[in-house]
Amino acid sequence: MERIFDVRDVSYAYMGKINALKDISFKVNSGEQISIMGANGSGKSTLLTLLDGLVFPTSGEFYAFDSKISEDVFDTIKDNEFRSYFRKKVGFVFQNSDVQLFSPTVFEEVAFGPLQLNMTSEEVKTRVMEVLEMIGITKLKDRSPHTLSGGEKKKVCIAAVLAINPDVLLLDEPTAGLDPRTQLWLIELLQELGRAGKTIITATHDLETVAQISKRAIVMGEDHRIVVDGNVEKVLDNLELLLSTNLIHEHTHIHGKLVHKHMHAANDEEHIHEQKN
Ligand code: ADP
Ligand code: MG
Repeated sequence: MERIFDVRDVSYAYMGKINALKDISFKVNSGEQISIMGANGSGKSTLLTLLDGLVFPTSGEFYAFDSKISEDVFDTIKDNEFRSYFRKKVGFVFQNSDVQLFSPTVFEEVAFGPLQLNMTSEEVKTRVMEVLEMIGITKLKDRSPHTLSGGEKKKVCIAAVLAINPDVLLLDEPTAGLDPRTQLWLIELLQELGRAGKTIITATHDLETVAQISKRAIVMGEDHRIVVDGNVEKVLDNLELLLSTNLIHEHTHIHGKLVHKHMHAANDEEHIHEQKN
């Protein structure tokens, strides 16, 4: 099986002093779907930016596609080729769509990535129209991304990333702020991409989506270390773990044995009804 990422004992501190990741080690194989869980500030977003080659370890080593990723590797002209390869292989959907969108129209936004790939303008047009169709936003193609709703912006960001056809997708809190119907649409899209063999790593504290989009969960503690890395069902059944990592809070009741959980998510006070069989 192809090894995608190998994170070895990585710590990261912003400006050398604000700890965000501490002694992180894990490997990701091609075709895995993984959720990165953890309370606010535990380091989920930082971990994704590390995997995307946007920040580099303060200590430890990070390998992607069997190459060691460091600032030097990404900065030397010699390795422009590797950098393009990496950028084509890995796509990142940021939590805040506004930082990702910069083109005057949706069409141009989605065309931006393919245009970097030496495709002809006809090929680019075909690719863009296919992706707009797949995401269901063809009718938005001439709109300015900044005038769209939050859910529409998220769809444009996802379309822009999928237009490059990356093998690996990194998504930071993708369901946050979406209405229930768009959330469900996104979950189904991620399931479909997973079945198509994409490697998908999603940072989320939305416990409801975790089991639907991943088989493996990595839980980050508030000390920025990995608390557990394992089967998603086991993680979700481990109430002590969810409590200690601040993913749920005190008022947690279990009705019957693995039957019906009433949980209060730590973040939004909403009830989560989880049906187990
Ligand atoms: P999460 O995504 O799990 O909420 P983050 O990775 O954003 O966590 O943050 C981890 C830690 O790093 C937090 O203490 C946060 O305050 C800090 N941090 C995040 N981004 C920056 C930044 N750009 N500059 C300084 N500190 C940051
Ligand atoms: Mg975050």
